[in-house]
Amino acid sequence: MISVRGLEFKYEGGEFHLTMPEFGVERGEKVAVIGPSGSGKTTLLNLLAGILSPVAGTITVAGTEVSALGDTERRDFRITTIGFVFQDFELLDYLTVTDNILLPYRITSALALDRDVRARATALAGEMGISDLVQRHPSELSQGEKQRAAICRALLPRPRLILADEATGNLDPVNKTHILDLLFRSVDHHEATLLAVTHDHELLDRFDRVADFKDFHAWGDA
Ligand code: ADP
Ligand code: MG
Repeated sequence: MISVRGLEFKYEGGEFHLTMPEFGVERGEKVAVIGPSGSGKTTLLNLLAGILSPVAGTITVAGTEVSALGDTERRDFRITTIGFVFQDFELLDYLTVTDNILLPYRITSALALDRDVRARATALAGEMGISDLVQRHPSELSQGEKQRAAICRALLPRPRLILADEATGNLDPVNKTHILDLLFRSVDHHEATLLAVTHDHELLDRFDRVADFKDFHAWGDA
């Protein structure tokens, strides 16, 4: 599902440098990504999603070489293939929860919003336990509820790959376990692959594998 080779990345004008000779994730795997703050975990997710472009190397996701796509293609590929649960959710406050969940369908012609999609959005909100909240705006939700909305949005297009950036980071232990259960169940249900950055070491044994950034020769020049 993911194949990274000879990856080199550097932020323009920045000191940070990421070197990843080889990294792979099999289809259907659930992999946790750990590593110190600032080691490049979020940077890697953004590279896999085609939000950032490598200086050298190849990134292949679901059989497509993301690093070789043009801007529009890369954006459409991301929206149709990858469900991204951002660390800060990135929900739009001027939209209701429903419209946030449907957002991927409004920003690309590669996805068609029809009655079936709306029905699946309603069903997903139900699975995530936020049915009663879908007409609210994100500012009227708790952290855990926002997280669930963000997960619904990431899952709705039935992405083959879910990238989750500390998706359980700000939650209390009970909510944390519950949200992870929901996420895992949906990943299984949709036969997706999961790559999740986490600081919760007590959750690691629930994943198939742990990828530690210590092994990726990430460093700052400073
Ligand atoms: P992590 O998610 O592991 O905490 P990040 O991938 O967010 O780490 O960041 C890795 C390094 O890149 C950090 O040193 C950070 O300061 C730097 N960095 C992140 N975003 C940018 C940017 N847009 N421009 C320059 N440097 C950045
Ligand atoms: Mg991060």
